[in-house]
Amino acid sequence: MVSGGKVTVLGAGLMGHGIAQVASQSGGYEVSLLDVEQSFVDRGMKMIRDSVGKFVEKGKLTKGEGDEVVGRIHPTLDLAEAVRGSKLVIEAATEDPRLKLELYRKLSDLAEEDTILASNTSSISITLLGSATKRPENVCGMHFFNPPQLMPLIEIIRGKKTSDSTVQKVRDMSAKLGKETVLCKVDSPGFIVNRILVPALNEAVFLVQEGVADPDDIDKAVKLGLNWPMGPLQLLDYVGLDTTLNITQVFMNEFQDSKYRPSPLLREMVRAGMMGRKSGKGFYEWGSPGATKQK
Ligand code: NAD
Repeated sequence: MVSGGKVTVLGAGLMGHGIAQVASQSGGYEVSLLDVEQSFVDRGMKMIRDSVGKFVEKGKLTKGEGDEVVGRIHPTLDLAEAVRGSKLVIEAATEDPRLKLELYRKLSDLAEEDTILASNTSSISITLLGSATKRPENVCGMHFFNPPQLMPLIEIIRGKKTSDSTVQKVRDMSAKLGKETVLCKVDSPGFIVNRILVPALNEAVFLVQEGVADPDDIDKAVKLGLNWPMGPLQLLDYVGLDTTLNITQVFMNEFQDSKYRPSPLLREMVRAGMMGRKSGKGFYEWGSPGATKQK
């Protein structure tokens, strides 16, 4: 399905490589994929080839289609070249406000007047990113879920000055990428999904801390009682206890509401280096870092 046109993805990491693949595979776009070092774009392209390989193995793409998907993605280190002629820039760079603001200042000079600048940020204000540009009406949030190749949802976030036409164009582009969308009408921390999820994960840690039930039973209860595919403590181990703690702190600061207070046990586990799957131990034993759960 080739729809033509060019999309730019900034950042070839965990999210960026997947978004670039979706733009090529589902949207049929030519994609410029930019990172700051050759080894990072190389790693991103390798992740894309590996993922496309799995689609081919499962019979969801032919070998020829898989080669075309990879062939439409053009790695680069040159920001001016990456954004030239692009209708949509999806920014998936490191979650660091200073780094992103600097990037948006440059984009403001380099991108064409009607190019949309969409950020995949999980926690940085879209209004703030827009304020670093000359055209905040063209800036909005476009929040994918991990892995972007498989997860069907995009949260679209309207900044204070985002125009209706920008929101509509991002909706239309998301549909071309085969995704469902929801609109956050206000630029509010955590948007919809993380605003609900993170307090739920934190509450599960409070249950452990208070000795109400063991982790296995808490996960079993939520899986069988709420039909979640995975219990909250196992999910926490996947997301990372440090990442979750950071988000509760953003909520505390932004909302100034103690209901987002992180569980002391969560804080203590992070201090002890128990980050979950990536460190080999969280609420469960994962063996070597990044391994699958061991009972
Ligand atoms: P990551 O660390 O895997 O990748 C970030 C990439 O950005 C790195 O390769 C880095 O070199 C690159 N980068 C740094 N500065 C850059 C610049 N100036 N221009 C272009 N690239 C630059 O991080 P990630 O998990 O892919 O997260 C990227 C963004 O997506 C963040 O804003 C994050 O909040 C958001 N996000 C992450 C997830 C998740 O599950 N990891 C989910 C949704 C949204």
